[in-house]
Amino acid sequence: MPQKTKKTPMMDQYLKIKAQYPDAFLFYRLGDFYEMFFDDAIKGAQILELTLTNRNKNAAEKIPMCGVPHHAAQNYIDTLVDQGYKVAICEQMEDPKLAKGMVKREVIQVVTPGTMTDTGAKEAKDNNYLTAVHQQGDQFGFAYVDLSTGELKTAVLNGAEILLNELLSLRTKEIVIDDSITEKTRAYIAPLKIMLSKQADVTTSAEVSYALQDVSTPLEQAVLQHLLAYLLRTQKRSLGHLQKAVHYEPSDYLKIDHYSKRNLELLQNSRTGKKGGTLLWLLDQTKTAMGGRLLKQWLERPLLSIKKIELRQKQVKILLDHFFERSELADELTSVYDLERLAGRVALGTVNGRDLLQLKQSLQQIPKIRYLLQQIDDGSFKALLKQLDPVAEVVDLIEQAIVDDPPMSITDGNLIKQGFDQELDGYKDAMKNGKHWLAKLEADERQATGINNLKIGFNRVFGYYIEVSKANLAKLPTDRYQRKQTLTNAERFITPELKEKETLILGAQTKAVALEYQLFVDLRDRIKDYIKRLQLLAAGISALDVLQSFAVISEQQHFVQPKLTKKHQIDLTAGWHPVVQEVMGEQSYIPNDIKMSEKLNILLITGPNMSGKSTYMRQLAQTVVLTQIGCFVPAKKAVLPIFDQIFTRIGAADDLIAGQSTFMVEMKEANEALMHATRNSLILFDEIGRGTATYDGMALAQAIIEYVHNNLHAKTLFSTHYHELTALEQTLPELTNVHVGAVEKNGKLTFLHRVEAGPADKSYGIHVARLAGMPESLLQRADVLLKKLEKTAKKPAAKETALKSGETTNKTAEQQLSLFVPETVAPVKHQQQRVIDELSQTELISLTPLAALNLLSKWQQEL
Ligand code: ADP
Repeated sequence: MPQKTKKTPMMDQYLKIKAQYPDAFLFYRLGDFYEMFFDDAIKGAQILELTLTNRNKNAAEKIPMCGVPHHAAQNYIDTLVDQGYKVAICEQMEDPKLAKGMVKREVIQVVTPGTMTDTGAKEAKDNNYLTAVHQQGDQFGFAYVDLSTGELKTAVLNGAEILLNELLSLRTKEIVIDDSITEKTRAYIAPLKIMLSKQADVTTSAEVSYALQDVSTPLEQAVLQHLLAYLLRTQKRSLGHLQKAVHYEPSDYLKIDHYSKRNLELLQNSRTGKKGGTLLWLLDQTKTAMGGRLLKQWLERPLLSIKKIELRQKQVKILLDHFFERSELADELTSVYDLERLAGRVALGTVNGRDLLQLKQSLQQIPKIRYLLQQIDDGSFKALLKQLDPVAEVVDLIEQAIVDDPPMSITDGNLIKQGFDQELDGYKDAMKNGKHWLAKLEADERQATGINNLKIGFNRVFGYYIEVSKANLAKLPTDRYQRKQTLTNAERFITPELKEKETLILGAQTKAVALEYQLFVDLRDRIKDYIKRLQLLAAGISALDVLQSFAVISEQQHFVQPKLTKKHQIDLTAGWHPVVQEVMGEQSYIPNDIKMSEKLNILLITGPNMSGKSTYMRQLAQTVVLTQIGCFVPAKKAVLPIFDQIFTRIGAADDLIAGQSTFMVEMKEANEALMHATRNSLILFDEIGRGTATYDGMALAQAIIEYVHNNLHAKTLFSTHYHELTALEQTLPELTNVHVGAVEKNGKLTFLHRVEAGPADKSYGIHVARLAGMPESLLQRADVLLKKLEKTAKKPAAKETALKSGETTNKTAEQQLSLFVPETVAPVKHQQQRVIDELSQTELISLTPLAALNLLSKWQQEL
């Protein structure tokens, strides 16, 4: 740690600045390097694989130090931020040559995981969200921003569960918190391992007030103020592209919790966590990065409003019906760059000449896109067409100012077109004339001296010079030439005239470069005035891009337009799981119907493993999501209601929150559905109860089905391998059995993957064993055992049949829960079981008669 004694003025400055940024690596600019000191240096050297050295090597107090060259700093900063650290960039604020005393230094930006804007091409279709949370009791003010695009949203979330869900679906890397966050909330979100950044106080600026304009609730005001204060503190630059905060209601969208999203593989493959094999992967035919991001947002938040969904459907249909215009549109969209992020870079001041050319080219596409869309529009695109504003003023500005092939840098000149600025043209003329003059001088001197290889050159130290080879030195008149430098084979000279021109040329060049930079900055500021229009345009283009992507996919995959119904019914004819079919090919996939009338709420699905039960369930969920984002769906015919939530308990448990048993996760997910599902929800339960002992699991499964049936009336698909549960069809009127069929063909068992009415064949397992070639005597024995087991199982089932659901006789509880051990009788049964177990384990042969008698009396007491 730093010592208090004998600090140099520089260390003093360093420590003062570092004290303001204790949680960040401080990159302290020293000449051409950013240096790190003390602990930053030790840790930084390790992470970035740099050589650790010491400052004041000879003194007693060595200061650990390491550094990176300033021109290569970006890579190092990215590495640190990717690994979840912050970097404070501290620059020299004045020219060290001109500074009196210590060079002034300031932190100009803090780069953090949530505020990274310089994303590479790989992340172009991802948003990078910084979120913020403010707590009041059980309520949370919630806000998120994408600094690269200026998107800003707020909500009030009721409860920590919803908060967790929002954080997970936004895939945020950093959360801004303040003192309102309780320890309990911190502990609740801690397993997500997201960086928490404290922002205690609030500040304002014009940009902040603008963003806050439409925000009405105090909770949202509070959270936004902290979020924006944090942005101001870390970015220290213009945030003119921040959009007005838009309030959203999580309840306006189809709710799918994070686990279900993963289970259903909407955006992330549940095994790899990547995009491959997901609905997003299938759907993404977007041509622009903005469209790619919007598609994800739509998938994250499917709609609930029939009107809004039907508008998207109409738009997709128009695009689908006009193949030619749609293809043209797609072609034109391909040449539209990321307008949203370009606008962001204009505001953040990170835009360069090439970006402006991209902006111009993109804007020049807009009139063509508008025209094509107008040709096919029937009124459905009216609002969207309004957004397609070609912002011609910006095109003109860039067209007039920026050359056709500008360099990456904005500080080295060669950016601004001739004719844009008179003063600049003057300097350029001077430079050009000077160069002509030099060429003429060279020719004249050659003639005057007769030295043919005499030449005029330039270097940084001596400026312009005349070079003559040693062999020709004698021919040189000594009076006019002043020797400046001697090389092995040549001498270099200057003349007063040459130096005079040099001052003119170099002066003009320096001034030109400085002026070009200034003109560029002015231009950038003028474009800033158009940012809101550019953002509106970007939103229109993104939506158009997603809609054309829906049309392309719907055509390629032969999707149909689903009809939305207010009735509580599902009618899918010959539907399929779009991703599974895409992977396995249309020929081998067996389409299936899903028909659930208003009176039928639960499908109990039986069938062997690997027959296609969970595919069938996922198919329905993906079809619902596709419907509610406005896309067409994989079926011959589809009629669907609007669902408010989807709950799933499918497949392998997602152990994101580690330390919980699979069965516990299973029960938690099931409970989530039981607590929150409404009549308009969709529930998918895949083999609930298999994570525990057979009877235990079966009992739970039955109780859950009865609960859903009697209390929720939500559309539910329930797959099970407990054949006994199929008897429920007789007592639960809203439940019916279906099964996935299998046939034996040439001694081989084939799954038909076809879902048919009725329960599965229960002797199926024995059937498979026979095919596997087990001895006939063994199989016959299994048959006998099966019949016997069935007989015992039937007794209560038969009684059950006599009872209608909801009927209350004295015996109801026991009979209905025939597979379930009621709490009150449990201890008794337990005891009996213990006695039986002990009896069966006792080795009678080794007992003395007295010991046997003692045991008998003990058991008698226990019963
Ligand atoms: P289960 O849930 O019954 O164990 P899955 O739904 O996981 O079975 O399906 C197992 C495999 O069967 C899938 O990976 C897929 O390859 C295939 N499959 C499922 N449904 C169909 C279908 N309708 N047509 C053809 N193949 C299917």
